[in-house]
Amino acid sequence: MNARAAIFDRAGQPFRFEELPLPERLEAGEALVEMRLATICGSDLHTFAGKRNEPVPCILGHEGVGRVIAAGPGREPWLGKRITWSSADGCGICPACTVWNLPQKCAHVFKYGHAALGHGSGLHGTYATHIVLQAGTHFVEVPPEVPDAVAASANCSLATMANVTEQLPSPCEVAVVQGAGLLGLHGCALLKAAGVRRVLVVDPEESRLARVAGFGGEPVRPGDLPSHGADVVIEAAGVPALVPEGMRLLRPGGHYLLVGMVHPDSALHLTGEAVIRGCVSLRGFHNYAPRHLDRAAAFLRQSPLPWASLVSPPLPLDRLGEGFALAASRRWPRVAISMCP
Ligand SMILES: [Zn+2]
Ligand SMILES: [Zn+2]
Repeated sequence: MNARAAIFDRAGQPFRFEELPLPERLEAGEALVEMRLATICGSDLHTFAGKRNEPVPCILGHEGVGRVIAAGPGREPWLGKRITWSSADGCGICPACTVWNLPQKCAHVFKYGHAALGHGSGLHGTYATHIVLQAGTHFVEVPPEVPDAVAASANCSLATMANVTEQLPSPCEVAVVQGAGLLGLHGCALLKAAGVRRVLVVDPEESRLARVAGFGGEPVRPGDLPSHGADVVIEAAGVPALVPEGMRLLRPGGHYLLVGMVHPDSALHLTGEAVIRGCVSLRGFHNYAPRHLDRAAAFLRQSPLPWASLVSPPLPLDRLGEGFALAASRRWPRVAISMCP
């Protein structure tokens, strides 16, 4: 039996579809997953546009839901389960994995959607009918009441925001989220669930602001922000020019949490004096640990929010190129690719 996969050769080149053999045998801790649905992340758009480099050829995609159809030794209890999984695989023995509580920064980290076809089976991205998950990957069963399209991006944006919002200042009554993309909306929902009374979400695009109220936040245009008083500000837009304003909005002792600027073009205009005089805690967040993925899955089950409105109607895998164009148009926070016939 073969898998069918969308192969990425280089930036700007259309995806090429290829049949790849499924692995004949799985190592301890590995699992073979039949993909059900994947979602297109902004980071894949960047790769496709040539803004970041990956080893090629490769299968892109790290967000998804699938069913375990074969299990290596130790993973048998997962057979038949509908799961999502941590987007990074850790070794479990390096200091990041064991002492620093940052398994996502594992010295031997392996990330799905970023591995060359020559690595093992090659089936390590979600834009394919099958994916092989490794031994250091955290699995989470998707609750039956959570649809594929809602769960697919939980292992990226929602789990990351579960990490960002895990430790808030006390008290935390007012939060400002800069950016109403998926990270911003997920952050807004988690802050409200954490008991934050007011969550102001600021974005220049009306179509993005229109989604904010559905997730419990107050939509704010950039000119309409209050002058100060936020207990916490989250930079989720990826725009360094927003940082001076975020600093201005914080109360003394507030927390400034940076999660959006995952690109090198992010030099900050910031004085040490402002950080010191404001007694500001400044912290960066990259990806997440297994517990944050567990939290994301539980949150989807517990919170009746308009999750499904964030995802496009699904396109079949063979129309992945069309899906990328739709994702680049920013009409939907996520575009869905379905592998279910
Ligand atoms: Zn992602
Ligand atoms: Zn490690």
